[in-house]
Parts: sequence; C-alpha cells; structure tokens
Amino acid sequence: MLPSSSIVQNYINGEWSAPNAETYLEVINPATIEVLSKVPLSPASEVDRAAVAAQTAFPAWRRTPATERIQYLFKLKALLEEHNEDIAQTITLECGKTIAESKGEMRRAIENVEVACGIPILMQGYNSEDIARGIDEHMIRQPLGVTAIITPFNFPGMIPFWFMPYAIACGNTCIIKPSERVPLTMQKIFHLIEQTGLPKGVINLVNGAKEVVDALLDHAAIRAISFVGSSPIAKYVYSRAAANGKRSQCQGGAKNPVIVLPDADIAMTTKIMADSAFGCAGQRCLAASVAITVGSAKTTFTDAIAEVASTRQVGFGLDSGVQMGPVITNQSKTRIEDIIQQAETEGATVLVDGRSPKVSGYENGHFVRPTILQDIDPAGEIAKTEIFGPVLSLIHLDSIDDAIALVNRSQYGNMASLFTSSGAAARKFRYEAEAGNIGINIGVAAPMAFFPFSGWKESFFGDLHGQGWQAIEFFTQTKVVVERWHDWTRQF
Ligand code: NAD
Repeated sequence: MLPSSSIVQNYINGEWSAPNAETYLEVINPATIEVLSKVPLSPASEVDRAAVAAQTAFPAWRRTPATERIQYLFKLKALLEEHNEDIAQTITLECGKTIAESKGEMRRAIENVEVACGIPILMQGYNSEDIARGIDEHMIRQPLGVTAIITPFNFPGMIPFWFMPYAIACGNTCIIKPSERVPLTMQKIFHLIEQTGLPKGVINLVNGAKEVVDALLDHAAIRAISFVGSSPIAKYVYSRAAANGKRSQCQGGAKNPVIVLPDADIAMTTKIMADSAFGCAGQRCLAASVAITVGSAKTTFTDAIAEVASTRQVGFGLDSGVQMGPVITNQSKTRIEDIIQQAETEGATVLVDGRSPKVSGYENGHFVRPTILQDIDPAGEIAKTEIFGPVLSLIHLDSIDDAIALVNRSQYGNMASLFTSSGAAARKFRYEAEAGNIGINIGVAAPMAFFPFSGWKESFFGDLHGQGWQAIEFFTQTKVVVERWHDWTRQF
C-alpha cells in the first residue's frame, strides 16, 4: 500500500478517500518526467458508492430552489478566480501546456460557471392558456437525476466545466471521472468545491480508467453520460450508454482543415495558424491540422509558416518565454514521430522537422518541435489521420471549390476555418463546409460558453452538445402538463 499523501483521492459523498485499487499509474510531468503522484484505477465498487451518494443527494438537491442552487456556483466562481494561478500551474505540471494556455483554459471553465448561474431563467419552460376552453398547457423542465462526466487529458480544468455547472444548476447530481493521465487538476478543484459548502453527494469524483467508465455506463442509477475523448471511445461510450437506456453526448476526435485563399492577410493568417497548429503542442481538438492553400497562397503562406514553426520557443511551460510545451507521454511522442516517418515514406517532404529535439535542461521530456509536412497526398492516410501533436500538413489545390470538397470528404467535422478578405468566399464556406464549428479568419473556433460546442460526423455522437442552451436541454427532461381547473360552482 502506498502512503496516502502521494495518492490521488476520490471524493464521494463529501469525503476524501483512497480506494483499495489493485493498479496505480504514475502521474508524470511530461517536460521533466518527474513523478508527481500516483493515481488509483478505482474498482467498479467506487462507482457504486458514488452513484448511491449522488442518488441519495438528488431528492433534496432537486427541491432546492434554483436561486439557492446557483449560490454555490457563485462561490465556486469566486474560489476559481482566487486560485486561478495555482490551478493553472497544476495543469501545466501534469499536462505540459504553457502557463498562459493553462490560464486561458481556466478562463473558459469559469465562463461556463457564469453562464450556468443564469439557470433560474434558462431553465424556464413555456405555456399556453386556453388550448381548449378553460384548459391550459405548460411545459416544465425537470432534472434527470444522477449524471456522469468522463473527460480526456488535454483540458483537465476546462472540459468538466462544459457539463458540470449546467448539470447541478438544473438540479441533477453528478460524478466526474477525469483522465487518469491528468488527475491532479480535479484534486485542486474539488478542494474548492468542498469549500463552497455544497451538500454531500451533489458532486463526486472517481478516478480510474476503463473499469470506472464501464461501471458508469452500466450503473442503473445513472441517467446521462457526457463524454469527451477520441472517436473510437466516444462511439463505444455512446453505444453502451444507449444500450443501457441512458442519454449521452459524446465528443470525439478531429482533423481540422484550414483553407488559405490568396486574398488572405498572410502575416495575420500565419500568426493565427501557428497558434492554432502548435498551441498546446497541437493537442487540441480544435487545432489546425491541415492547411489547404489555394493559388498564390501556396508560396506566400508556406514560406511564412515554415519560418514561424522553426523559431517557436519550446520548453517547460512554467519557464518564461516558452511558447510550446511537450506532448503528454513518451508513447504520444513516438506515435507522432512514427506518423512523420510514415508521411515521408509516402512521399511527403518534411519541410520543418521537429523530431527528436534537444530541449536544454529537459533532455528527457516528451518534446516534439513544430513540424511541417509538404506535398501531402489529399487522399492518403496522413491527410485523414488525427495526429494530435504539433504537426501541420500542407496541401495545395487550385480552387475554393476543390478545397471545400476536400474539407467535406473528412470523416471528422469538429472545426473548419477559412482565411480570406472576401465576404462572398466566407459566406460560401460557412454555408457549404461540413463541420460544426466554423472559423472565418479564426484559427481556433472555440465556442464561448453560451454557444454549443458543436462537433459533427465522427467528432460527435449524440444530438445535444455541451455548453449553453443545449447543455440545459441535455440535463433536463421536459414534462407537459394539461390542466383544467373547473369552477364547479359556475357554468363556463
Ligand atoms: P481517450 O479517448 O483515450 O480518453 C478519454 C476518456 O476515456 C478518459 O477518461 C479515459 O480514461 C477513457 N477511456 C480510454 N480508453 C477507454 C476504453 N477503452 N474504455 C472506456 N473508457 C476509456 O482520449 P484522450 O487521449 O484522453 O484525449 C484525446 C482525444 O480527445 C483526441 O482524440 C481529441 O481530439 C479528443 N478531444 C475531443 C474534444 C472535442 O470537443 N471533440 C475535446 C478534447 C479532446
């Protein structure tokens, strides 16, 4: 048994505990490869404990007026602001992104709390008087019960907040299962949740991997599943949740194309594209992965992006001046470098080669420098595969029609962007592109908290997305009431 201080804990029914797990994984700083902690892969019995706690807490929480429920969210917002620096540092330590990126991530988390504080009005239903003589009809929204949230490694602070504030503001209780690779951020955040005085069992935390996910999918008390991760697992979660009669919203992987037209402002496009392709070391589901140049943009954009990619400062995200951190694990680094090798074998030119970089002071870190692949076969594997690393592939086509056709051939539909100064081209793109998040002169078209995070195709399984109105629809069930209150003393 490991000493409990070095072990990541679960938070169930308002209490911290270390589960009796058979397996523990090391939580590693990907820049320094220092072991930060150990995370238990909890057994299914921990999910049962959490589900029972959440189910027990539900009746009283549901009866708590929405105006009272949101007071806990106001407190949580204040605590998240107060501890922003500390949480951001934890994200950088376990996930590798720069401190500025970690702070940006927490900003969006806080914005979701702010939006959910509007629940007294957002959760309202609607009504019609006199649908027949003396009869009225109302639609009211009621919470579902226990909900579960399963998240990936790349935004350990933000992604749980695409769902959790809405779930509890609507009167549900919930269980969060963070990625086993980055469990420390939620440890910090749950210590803040504890300080809000939220009733026991309303929000629970269970750490682990597949066994925990399967137990959440199978548990009879859990009504809804929110998932974010890779497409194969998203599809699996969606199918198993449906087979068990649960509603689910499952966000998957991506391969985001960006079209650069000859009339784009190349200096601005290059700066934005570099941030999109190489920010968070390319480990963003909204990272630009393929740049499709049209006409003369081929040379102007290629020259400019190659220059920026070669000069990007790579290192430990807490060090000043660092623009890009490491990728999450050594397996990720090897996988990304193998894909670059495969591209070369298939005939691509490695214009900027980020393999096996020397990062002074962090020689053992999981670093891949920005990489640019040219002469990619539009129909080949590299143009289709999600790389999830700092690799930008360049494809040249002759017209915007060909470029949009290529965008629409993708199996994914998370984001597509266009850089242009033409309103007509922008409208055509917005109208025709088959992706749920569209950027026009924007590199990372991340919806604000009051808009849905709208993936399409293999990037999303379900119908109601996270954030905004759709989250409220997801976390409530509608009830329609038809009422006749006859005054028996009078004739109508
Ligand atoms: P992942 O699919 O490996 O893991 C996501 C979650 O699923 C984790 O909590 C993990 O414990 C669990 N899981 C993993 N394998 C499982 C299995 N076999 N059975 C049951 N549960 C399992 O994803 P990741 O590597 O943590 O994250 C990167 C992926 O997430 C990328 O594909 C990225 O595009 C995607 N992502 C998508 C979005 C979006 O909004 N669409 C946002 C962020 C990340």
